[in-house]
Amino acid sequence: MIDFNARIKDALALASDTKVFQFGEDILKHAPDLFMENFPGKKALIVADGNTWVAAGEKVWSYFKGAGIECRKHLFGMEEFHADSIYSDEIGAELDEFPSIPVAVGSGVINDLCKLAAFRHNVPYMVVATAASVDGYSSSGASITVDGAKMTIECKAPKVILADTNVLASAPKEMTAAGYADLAAKIPAGGEWMIADLFGTEPIVPEAWKILYEILPEMIADPEGIAAGNPESVGILFAGLTLSGIAMQVAHSSRPASCAEHLYSHWLDMTGHTFNGKLQSHGFQVGVGTLTTCAFFDELLKMDLSEIDVEACVEKWPALEEEQRRAREIFKDFPVPELGYTEITKKYNDKETVRRQLELIKNNWHEFKKELRKQVYSFDKMQNMFSIAGAPTCPEDIGVTRNQMRYLTDFVQLMRWRINMLDLAKRGCFYDRLVDGVFGKGGVWEC
Ligand SMILES: [Zn+2]
Repeated sequence: MIDFNARIKDALALASDTKVFQFGEDILKHAPDLFMENFPGKKALIVADGNTWVAAGEKVWSYFKGAGIECRKHLFGMEEFHADSIYSDEIGAELDEFPSIPVAVGSGVINDLCKLAAFRHNVPYMVVATAASVDGYSSSGASITVDGAKMTIECKAPKVILADTNVLASAPKEMTAAGYADLAAKIPAGGEWMIADLFGTEPIVPEAWKILYEILPEMIADPEGIAAGNPESVGILFAGLTLSGIAMQVAHSSRPASCAEHLYSHWLDMTGHTFNGKLQSHGFQVGVGTLTTCAFFDELLKMDLSEIDVEACVEKWPALEEEQRRAREIFKDFPVPELGYTEITKKYNDKETVRRQLELIKNNWHEFKKELRKQVYSFDKMQNMFSIAGAPTCPEDIGVTRNQMRYLTDFVQLMRWRINMLDLAKRGCFYDRLVDGVFGKGGVWEC
């Protein structure tokens, strides 16, 4: 059994922003003590929405009042609202009027709104988590919509995180399952980081790898406990999500936690995808991306890349201008038509670099393949875990067809500068074979 508390202590020692992370059963009442220890003499602005107020906010408010902390509350309504900068500005206006430390009581949205408001006011903040639903609690970026465009704004992670596992376990089951899928996403994302490491474009940061990847399999090993809402299992999931955020703080990059699987979700966010009239959660969208990339890895690992004809591939490697044209064509009707062009321009490698990358793959293939198989779960294994946890098991579960997933894949290859496994396939001239292996006849998502 892994000593999660010791792991968390080691991780916090390396984190740039987060200094305190407490999780356990019935610890909500410790919130005022943690606040006073970390923000002595400060006032508190407790931020919640209708749901999180009921889940924990009201209690936190009364504990703070009882401890004699001068505080105000900022409550958003019960209606569904999202992480839009206008709401963050509302919190900011309150901070102008009542200089204080924000205490975010909530999950992804409330946390991101407070994170941005605190950053813009140059104050640290505290979060009291109400659901193990996302990895963004402890990451140093807020996922916010500004004038209709969703973006990640660099800002500081919370100084203090408190998670009462009884509160987390009472969250809607779908939220916990979404967090589970977001944590499981690190499995194929790690495999893609290994490819970028071999290529030398984004070397693995050993401290960040150790924080997250050494214990990741144990942290997602209990989908039954997640489905049952067992406080201990949900607590371990939350610790995993927090450690992935801290790994990002340590790497100063989202590389440890996100690769191609997240891009499927970003595409759906940017095109305003809904299913049965509702936006789909980050975790569920990422979950479908995760199953897809696991399936790609299955296809990749069937191949023998030690046989690759490097010279023939280099010969076929397109010039930058051709890639830019291709990106413009693919993205021409996308809400951000320049995105593919901008990212491929950053990501493009010349023929000489591609030759070196392919030689590295070719010469190390047998050993590298074994390492990848150790890291990345098969599609079947991941799908089975998702099915037990209550996460999506196919694109249709979030209202996306298999044809759409196939169509999205061309965007995913181009929409971020970061090297992913589809870039390896492009370089090795087996992209179509890889995609056909998943979506073609006999593929797991034949369409
Ligand atoms: Zn995520």
